[in-house]
Amino acid sequence: MEMKDCRIAGLRDNKKIHQAIRTILKEIGEDPNREGLKRTPYRVAKAYEEWCGGYWFKPKDVLDRQFTESCGIVIEGPISFTSLCEHHLAFFTGSAYICYIPDKYVTGLDKLVKLVEIYARRLQVQERMTAQIADGLFKNLKCKGVMVVVKAKHLCVSSRETKNDTTETITSEVRGVFCKDLGARQEVMNLINMKDVK
Ligand SMILES: [Zn+2]
Repeated sequence: MEMKDCRIAGLRDNKKIHQAIRTILKEIGEDPNREGLKRTPYRVAKAYEEWCGGYWFKPKDVLDRQFTESCGIVIEGPISFTSLCEHHLAFFTGSAYICYIPDKYVTGLDKLVKLVEIYARRLQVQERMTAQIADGLFKNLKCKGVMVVVKAKHLCVSSRETKNDTTETITSEVRGVFCKDLGARQEVMNLINMKDVK
């Protein structure tokens, strides 16, 4: 199962969505029939196939390959992502670090990137997305612990009344041994900082 196939079948041709987009265009004072906007309802519907394509995947779909390997901490990142805030349908973009301590098994590194994608491509709040990524990995890969750190900028904050384009939101979630092991958490943060969190 590939993320590039991550499309909601038929959404681009969904007439109800086209009509809804036309209504928005009209109500903001535009002419939905002018040349530049004629195909906009179709284009928006098609874009939503990708932006919301993550609903069609479960973590076990991407964590299907696991290999026997004993090693210490594994950290993948920064994994860049784009998601849609469910309160404003505005984008938030940033990067995630996924860290886990294997218990006899590891998964492909690209699978961790895909795990972020399946939760980013939905209507989200960053707090829940971070928890879902952590649970998705902890429940589907036999491991001792998981730690996920997400850093993102929200367009609904930077482009609206607050107009603050410097602030970022940082969220983290821990599962398993990381819940009690402060030292392990500190080690992960040190390793991430070596890689210069952006
Ligand atoms: Zn928002």
